[in-house]
Amino acid sequence: MGRSEQIEVTAPAKINLSLDVIGRREDGYHEVRMVMQSIRLCDRVRINRIAGSDIVLKNSLAYLPSGKGNLAYDAAVLFREETGIGDGVFVEVEKNIPVAAGLAGGSTDAAAVLCGLNELFETGLTEQKLREMGLRLGADVPFCIMGGTALAEGIGEKLTKLKDAPKFHVLLVKPMTGVSTKEVYTRLDSKSDIAHPDVDGMLRAIDEGDHLGVARRIGNVLEPVTRDMCPEIEKIERQMKNFGCEGVQMSGSGPTVFGLFADKDRAKAAYMHFKIGGFGGQTFLTEFLR
Ligand code: ATP
Repeated sequence: MGRSEQIEVTAPAKINLSLDVIGRREDGYHEVRMVMQSIRLCDRVRINRIAGSDIVLKNSLAYLPSGKGNLAYDAAVLFREETGIGDGVFVEVEKNIPVAAGLAGGSTDAAAVLCGLNELFETGLTEQKLREMGLRLGADVPFCIMGGTALAEGIGEKLTKLKDAPKFHVLLVKPMTGVSTKEVYTRLDSKSDIAHPDVDGMLRAIDEGDHLGVARRIGNVLEPVTRDMCPEIEKIERQMKNFGCEGVQMSGSGPTVFGLFADKDRAKAAYMHFKIGGFGGQTFLTEFLR
């Protein structure tokens, strides 16, 4: 059998079912406790071997960097440094995940490139090794390599695989505004009244397969901060509740809002409302990915 010349990998987005910040380290990083959930919405990454020794990146969004600074490119550089492989590669990223949205779009591209190159070049790096490499690119990259449902602690790198969470349909609505993760965390640091989510309750609900318990315990310590910067969040949440979702919450540092629906028809009706109702942002109907 000849060696393969091309590989295609899907790069799923994530939502945070629960996100708490429990401290700030001396190096400025925040210590978190997060329950992460992969969803079906994904970017697509194709990698081809090419002659020469260049890394060539093409991505479908012209405003993202096409070299250094694009996490897909940086991941290819890191992979070659770590493995000593100098072959040329052409990396093509089809972006479907909204950018700067709290859905780990960049991190999942990086994860897909690391895993894709490991397979294409048959380098046999373990998942643990790939996760260590991924952490150097971003705190969410190790989870994106693992996927599914997981508890992330430390700065996001201490991962515990959880039972699959009870399935929900997920309606994502991203307001027009993008927010900078850094600014959200900086604002959090100067806040005194912080409402922490019930992460342990969420872990119990997942362990017990308690569908409604999961929906009731979603929570995000960053939401009040981002809401101050992006008032549309509250409006979107109110409208989603009117469509009968079981739970509604902002993902990551935002500003994307997700609604968890047990009932597909209700989810579809809400999707159509945001899609055609003159709402200016991006809307997706997706589901948990295991
Ligand atoms: P997180 O949930 O991990 O905080 P996010 O969804 O808020 O991530 P990203 O979509 O990953 O944010 O984008 C954050 C920044 O990273 C963007 O402003 C963008 O310039 C940069 N970036 C670099 N590479 C990529 C990529 N491949 N896809 C998207 N953004 C990228």
